Amino acid sequence: MSAVLVINSGSSSLKYQLLEMTGETVLASGLIERIGEDAGSVKHTVSASSTAGDAADETFRGSEPVADHAAAFRVMIEAFASHGPSLTENPPIVVGHRVVHGGKRFFEPTVVTDLVKINIEDLSELAPLHNPANLDGITAAQVAFPDVPHVAVFDTAFHATLPAAAYTYAIDRELADKHRVRRYGFHGTSHKFVSEVAAEFLGRDLEQLKTIVLHLGNGASACAVDGGRSVDTSMGLTPLEGLVMGTRSGDLDPAVLVHLHRRAGLGFDELDTLLNRRSGLIGLSGRGDMRDVVEAGDSGDEAAALALDVYLHRLKHYVGSYIAVLGGVDAIVFTAGVGENSVAVRGRALEGLERLGIRIDPQRNASGERGPRLISADDSAVAVLVVPTNEELEIARQSLSVI
Ligand code: AMP
Repeated sequence: MSAVLVINSGSSSLKYQLLEMTGETVLASGLIERIGEDAGSVKHTVSASSTAGDAADETFRGSEPVADHAAAFRVMIEAFASHGPSLTENPPIVVGHRVVHGGKRFFEPTVVTDLVKINIEDLSELAPLHNPANLDGITAAQVAFPDVPHVAVFDTAFHATLPAAAYTYAIDRELADKHRVRRYGFHGTSHKFVSEVAAEFLGRDLEQLKTIVLHLGNGASACAVDGGRSVDTSMGLTPLEGLVMGTRSGDLDPAVLVHLHRRAGLGFDELDTLLNRRSGLIGLSGRGDMRDVVEAGDSGDEAAALALDVYLHRLKHYVGSYIAVLGGVDAIVFTAGVGENSVAVRGRALEGLERLGIRIDPQRNASGERGPRLISADDSAVAVLVVPTNEELEIARQSLSVI
């Protein structure tokens, strides 16, 4: 048995998954939320694959105060002890941690040392909401699992191959260098996983393939992948740039900030909140979930219909520009919550691109199939796919690869 524990630690949450890597199956997964609040919530799911016979997945829920990340790990270990599978029988040989920002330093999965932790901490100024929480998770996990290696897998790492032309912002170079201002890109673990699965599904050599990956979740980003390497991506210094998202604006004329500061008297914290939490679909329509936006738009809600139009226009804009950046495209891949589930978004996003060789088959698009699948028509020169992302599996694979 070679089990890997994958940890995704947020500021008030801890997500975990225990995977058995011989067959790449999930043994158990869980989510502890509201860490630091009076009543924390605990959810632990034991996968059918970890139990004998043909039982279904079993989920256990509870509520108890969880003071901090160290307490969250104790709660997690208790959940394994009470509900299984046994960590003694399936001891993790490595713990893999999702870390959001690796800056310019980390472009590979990295075994965590004290120096690595100092560097992750130093990069917190670029990801103040994420890196400190990721680090809290690592420190607590090291206490809970002191005898195994811990590996950090960075969201930015896949984009280390961006050419300077794609990662450089056209501002004063000295200032930019001093403050590490450049495009880093995010969702890298997902873009890498999905582009590799797409090549495998198509039976094509990854080295020869030009792919556009559209990771459309609550956060969303596009990535141009040439021969397995990221050559452009829509998120930038932070995960705010690019596509319209659930609560984030994506691209914007930077002068809007100056204008709102001067004319509306908004301070920097207010602008930060406005663009990260009160913009995107929620800012335009009052609804942050794509299901609600589509439904309201279909029922005649003008704000929702406009929100969807803006979302789709931006998406098409990126698809077009990445076809140009790549000098053509072989495959366009939809993934994450919206990309995997929304027939309407997939269908409308690529409408009118027939002259570029892109044609979706409406029946294939609407089929409720799970797993990687083709949704383009037989006469579409470009293959359009849906590929469910699996960041946990990718983190587990990468963590295992370095020990
Ligand atoms: P993720 O961040 O990948 O977990 O994606 C979460 C988002 O996926 C949610 O906020 C929803 O907007 C979206 N989503 C999930 N299921 C559907 C669906 N059936 N149709 C449209 N959007 C969906």
